[in-house]
Parts: sequence; C-alpha cells; structure tokens
Amino acid sequence: AGPGLLGAADIRALAEALGVRPTKQLGQNFVIDANTVRRIVRTAGVRPDDVVVEIGPGLGSLTLALLESAARVVAIEIDPVLARHLPTTIAARMPERAADFALVHADAMTVDELPGPAPTALVANLPYNVSVPVLLHMLQTFPSLDRLLVMVQSEVADRLAATPGGKVYGVPSVKAAWYADVKRAGAIGRNVFWPAPNVDSGLVSFVRREPPPTTATRAEVFAVVDAAFAQRRKTLRAALAGWAGSAAGAEEALRAAGIDPRTRGEALGVAEFARIAEHRPDSGL
Ligand code: SAM
Repeated sequence: AGPGLLGAADIRALAEALGVRPTKQLGQNFVIDANTVRRIVRTAGVRPDDVVVEIGPGLGSLTLALLESAARVVAIEIDPVLARHLPTTIAARMPERAADFALVHADAMTVDELPGPAPTALVANLPYNVSVPVLLHMLQTFPSLDRLLVMVQSEVADRLAATPGGKVYGVPSVKAAWYADVKRAGAIGRNVFWPAPNVDSGLVSFVRREPPPTTATRAEVFAVVDAAFAQRRKTLRAALAGWAGSAAGAEEALRAAGIDPRTRGEALGVAEFARIAEHRPDSGL
C-alpha cells in the first residue's frame, strides 16, 4: 500500500488481502473515489482543531481524508476484521498522523464514552440500515458534537431535513430538529461505491442548537412525537388518545397547548410537540 488516500484499486486489493466480503447486513458499501471523500470533508467544514468521530470507517477511505484536515479522528467500527486492520492502514498510508487516530471496536449504538478529548464534529458514511438511530444516539450522548455531516440513503436524507407540512416529514425529522438545524448538503451517486448500492445517497448537515425551551423532558416530547406519527392519517385528537388515556384527554391537552385537535402531526414543528408534552393529563397515580 502506498501513501495517501485510497483509490478503487487500493480498496479492492485491501479487501482481497483481508478476505473481506462486504455484507448488506452491516451496510458495507465502501467509497472508492478520493474526490468524493475530500468533498465530504470539505462540505463538513472540518477544521484543524476538530476532534472528529467517524462511525463505520470500513477500510479507511474517509478516515484518511479526515486525518488530512482534523486534529484527531476517533473511529467506531463494529466489524472485527475491519477494526483490527484499520490502524495498520493508517500507519502505512499516513504514518505522520497515526498518533492522532484512535479506533473503538464496538457497535456505535452502545458507545457512550470515547477515548481522548471531547469530540467536536461527526463525519460518517453511515451504515444505511441503522443510520437514523445511530445519529440520534450520537446527538444525545455527545453534547460536545456541534457539527455533523453524514452520508445516508437519499430518501433518508430528505426525511431528516424535511420541514412541517412536507410529504416525508415524520419522526426522524422532528427528533433531529430537537437537536440541530438540519439541511441537505448534496447528492452522491451510487458509482463511487464498491459494491454499488441500488439507491443514491445524500449528504445531510446538522448544526447543533438549543432544544426549544420547555418544561417537558426530551423523552416526554419524543413520546408525543412517536404517538402522533404512529397513526399518521389520524387527527391528533385520535392519534394521541392512547398517550393521553382517552380522546377527551387528548383534546384537552391539545386545547391547553393552543393546538387545534383536528390538526395532523405532520403540520407541527418540534416546539409545538414540546408544548403538547407539557399538558399530558395526569395518569391518576
Ligand atoms: N466509511 C467507509 C467508507 O466510506 O468507505 C465505510 C462505510 S460503510 C457504508 C458502513 C460501515 O459501518 C461499515 O464498515 C460497517 O462495518 C460499519 N458498521 C455497520 N454497523 C455498525 C455499527 N452499528 N456500529 C459501528 N459500525 C458499523
């Protein structure tokens, strides 16, 4: 292996040497194009003082590009073969940066602390089957992360960045908006991956901001959001009946929050869900 970023031939050679056969189950589609990983790092606005977390570094395409720009990169990989080999790839291709790289062999969903200084940014080509829960877990667990740029399936990118009233606005949109301002940040074709997925990808950027001011907890607000969208076609009065104990209770909570009970969840922003959560009727316990 030569120095610098990985190209298509390097990825294939590495995979063959390690006996890696990419699996769908772990969302293993590796980027084989150096221009694409550089573009991702540029779009993320990675700065020389950033401590970047990467989820699912795979064979290291994006990791190496991140090490060109960041102070430090901490990568979390679930696959034991990929996790074991990555430090060797970094040492071979960017020896001068090897001391600023750390690998955590784990399922990112279970990680609640990281070695070294608090992370400031997250940049990742996420495994598609778990992209939304992993994102929400990282936003919740590491409040020091103030910028995130992720590559996800294009349709998921649309959903994450959707605003109230839109067709694809739903649970991921509202929960992401609890933590951050979320925007689509570009499209990525399927031909820059090996193996090529059968969907296109999109970049989504998150800039953290304070959650809306509310006396309700995050869990209380998210419970309203889950209930409201579980029965998407219903009015909030009907959809929130289980949450409130009865349809009459739901109506009362909605009126107290200043929201028309005939509204549907897809019309409301995160601040309005928070207001509803504040008016949940007593359970009577
Ligand atoms: N970053 C590499 C790239 O761009 O070429 C690989 C991206 S690939 C889409 C997703 C990676 O996430 C794979 O390496 C896979 O093994 C890893 N992965 C899947 N599920 C994971 C999880 N729950 N926690 C950590 N890594 C995971």
